[in-house]
Parts: sequence; C-alpha cells; structure tokens
Amino acid sequence: MSDQFAPVGVLGGTFNPVHYGHLRSALELVECLQLDHLRLMPCAIPPHRAAPDCPAHDRAAMVELAVADEPGLHCDDRELHRSGPSYTIDSLEALRAELGDRHSLCLVMGCDAVRKIDTWHRWEELLSVAHIVLLARPGWQLPDAGLVADWLAENRRSDRSWIRRQRHGTILVEELRPLAISATEIRHLLQAGRSARYLLPDRVLDYIEQQQLYR
Ligand code: ATP
Repeated sequence: MSDQFAPVGVLGGTFNPVHYGHLRSALELVECLQLDHLRLMPCAIPPHRAAPDCPAHDRAAMVELAVADEPGLHCDDRELHRSGPSYTIDSLEALRAELGDRHSLCLVMGCDAVRKIDTWHRWEELLSVAHIVLLARPGWQLPDAGLVADWLAENRRSDRSWIRRQRHGTILVEELRPLAISATEIRHLLQAGRSARYLLPDRVLDYIEQQQLYR
C-alpha cells in the first residue's frame, strides 16, 4: 500500500506555561513521524480540570513565542475563539474539515493524559477522526487493565506507516527523549521566587516577567 496522506500532529494542553518537555517532544515527533507539521493547541476552558489562573490569551501568546522560529511547529488558537468547554473532538472535526482530503490527523498526548480519556466528551469517536500518538513521560505508565487498556490494546499498532496509509484509527506509542519537566513544577518555582531558566524558552520567561504571571 502506498503512502497517501500527509500527517498533521495536534498536541492539545493547557500550556500553563509551555516548556521544553512539550517543545522537544513536538519537534522529535515531527522528525520521527515525518509529520507535515504539528500544531500546539492551547485549551481555553479545560473540561476536566480547574480553569488555569493564567488567561488563555497569555498561554497562547507564550506558545506563539515558543514556536516562532520553528517551521515544523505552529500555534493553533481555535479553542480561544469558541465558547463553552474546549472539547478536543470539536477541534479535531473543525481541523479535519479545513485540511481537506490530503492529510491525516494525529492527536498527540502524554501517557498521563490518556489514562482518563474515557471521561472525554465523545471519546469513542476520537479514532474516527484522528490517529492517536501517545508519548512516554517520566513517572507515568500506560494503564494495563480496564476500559482504556482494552481500547489501547485493540487499536495499537507498531507500524508507523499506518498514519499515512489511513486518515484515522491507529494508536501509536512513541518513546522519545524523556524530559521530566512539568508546568506545575515551573509555576511552583516561579511562585517561590526561584529561577525556571533552561526549563522553557527565554522568550517565554521574558513574557512571564513582563506580564507578571505566576507571582
Ligand atoms: P501541568 O503540570 O499544569 O499539568 P503539563 O506540564 O502536564 O502541565 P499540559 O499543558 O497539561 O502540560 O500538557 C499538554 C500535553 O503535553 C499533555 O498531553 C501532556 O501529557 C504532555 N506533556 C507535558 N509535559 C510533557 C513532558 N515533559 N514529556 C512528554 N509529554 C508531556
């Protein structure tokens, strides 16, 4: 079977703030999966966690700054232009309609994020719109029993070529460079008046300083 579709990656998150764990994973995925590009998609109103104190427009601005010089990475701020909870399935469907027939879609998430995927709005339809790429993340394992584990086992494939043979429907698990960085840790450092330098881009840190975020 020949390659038919150019895969586009989508990494959703609160990005509160964006850091090198997100950025390095995103770039490595673009290279190893030969993605057309990858979109970091900041969530406006997270359906499954408390709304971040940091406004969505600031979180998106930091993502824009972080990817400005990297042609393979883009900020997709569509969730900021919708009201109500930011459901991933709605964003994927909108993107699917925009991209046309030439592309497949890959929803990317850390293996921490997949553990509760069965609580997501219309979760069983995600694989009808996109492939799913799971990233190993230090300190987290994939579930090994239960509904999500069964769903993973049923849809997981090891052959990466599926993401260009079909537009949706495959789960891949990728072990990239492990970077034990979290936004929670960065916020705690900043709140304690400590430096977060080298955990995230200087431009993002400058923005945090200018806007007096995470005080
Ligand atoms: P928080 O600490 O506030 O929960 P976070 O650092 O986990 O934030 P999110 O914006 O929630 O960042 O993450 C967006 C996506 O990126 C999620 O799917 C998450 O699993 C993944 N991710 C975040 N940090 C890493 C990392 N260091 N390595 C791999 N994946 C990551």
